[in-house]
Amino acid sequence: MAYTQPDLPYPENALEPHISAKTIGFHYGKHHATYIKKYNDMVAGTPHDDQSIEDVMQAAANDPEKTGLFNNGAQAWNHSFYWNSLTPNGGGLPSGQIAEKIDADFGSYDAFKNELANAAATQFGSGWAWLVLDNGKLKVVKTPNAQTPLTDGKHPILTIDVWEHAYYLDYQNRRPDYIAAVIGELINWDFASQNFLNAQV
Ligand code: MN
Repeated sequence: MAYTQPDLPYPENALEPHISAKTIGFHYGKHHATYIKKYNDMVAGTPHDDQSIEDVMQAAANDPEKTGLFNNGAQAWNHSFYWNSLTPNGGGLPSGQIAEKIDADFGSYDAFKNELANAAATQFGSGWAWLVLDNGKLKVVKTPNAQTPLTDGKHPILTIDVWEHAYYLDYQNRRPDYIAAVIGELINWDFASQNFLNAQV
């Protein structure tokens, strides 16, 4: 079925000064919208038309003849997840069960933060850094290009887009500064916490 681009959960300028309205305007309005259009064009009139985007991603993930379908579908899904991983006045410390689990699995919030920042900074070229729940344990992973832990048996909890289009207008080559701003000021811990609780059941 056609995948509809979800509304941006905040105005385009709501993440300023950390991410500009210009960046969000291109990123949501052009990049994400184009992945979705291409995905919808590819599934239209095929058996995938009856499937959810998640099921199409699973089916296409290991099919070398469906690389284009996977890439556009995964980028459609990953970006929808990314918009919700951010929020104005976010960042700071998590609380509740996810905070306890971060302490248990990483040792401390600071250890988690450093591991996430390092993964995001060292993803070579385009890709994503993620907090995931994998076999009952919170882990940080990075994925290249459109790859997503969703088709790797892991539960995504939050993500940071580290494609250059996510930060270049605002930070140019200073990817670590973008990462520090996202982690420190924008992470949506309510969304992450909800994903964590949902992954338990
Ligand atoms: Mn992107």
